[in-house]
Amino acid sequence: MGERREWWRRALREAASVVWPVECAGCGARDVAVCSACRSLLLAGPLHDELEGLPLVAAAEYDDRVRALVVACKAHGARAEARALGAGLALALAALPDAELVRVPPSRVGQRSRGFDPVALVVRQTGMRSWSLRRARASAEAAAGAGGAQKQRSATARARAAEGSLELPPRVARRLAGRPVVVVDDVVTSGATAREAVRALRAAGCLPVGIAAVARTLLRVDGHRLASSTPGVE
Ligand SMILES: [Zn+2]
Repeated sequence: MGERREWWRRALREAASVVWPVECAGCGARDVAVCSACRSLLLAGPLHDELEGLPLVAAAEYDDRVRALVVACKAHGARAEARALGAGLALALAALPDAELVRVPPSRVGQRSRGFDPVALVVRQTGMRSWSLRRARASAEAAAGAGGAQKQRSATARARAAEGSLELPPRVARRLAGRPVVVVDDVVTSGATAREAVRALRAAGCLPVGIAAVARTLLRVDGHRLASSTPGVE
């Protein structure tokens, strides 16, 4: 009898682990969706930098574990990962002036294939309201032409390609004109996308006061210039 019960218990546990495989998305630790070590990576204290003359505050360095959490969140929109990333983002936001939050939109390909906006999901975990920039129509052809080459391009080429690619929808621009805004993205790599977001917000009459990100991978080159240290997921 006891043996039978044990057999069932084991069978159920195995079945459950197939349906809900529980392991840390960051480091693979078992039986927890995000382990406390990976969670604390995002809470270690925000990293301060400067981009486009604005404070750039990120929760963490974009290392392998943080990358794995971001990728898991993007792939499945998983709650536990989104909550951990959101907690980090909340700390980064707390280090910036109070402002309306404006998100960098997903890439066209990402939006189509995922059907959800991972940055919106992470921002939602902070309990704060946010608005979204959108991909400008004029840049659609350029983006289609550039295709998957984005990740291999130099920081300068990426900056040039990003220019004019974002815009604030007119309805949102009317609401936010003249107001302080913070750009929000999940990962800042070359900084090209964040820079373009700042440009688009200024063009819409907003007053950008900072950039907040879950993670960043930036190298400081000659004073104020920032360049990508690794290919990223922008
Ligand atoms: Zn972990």
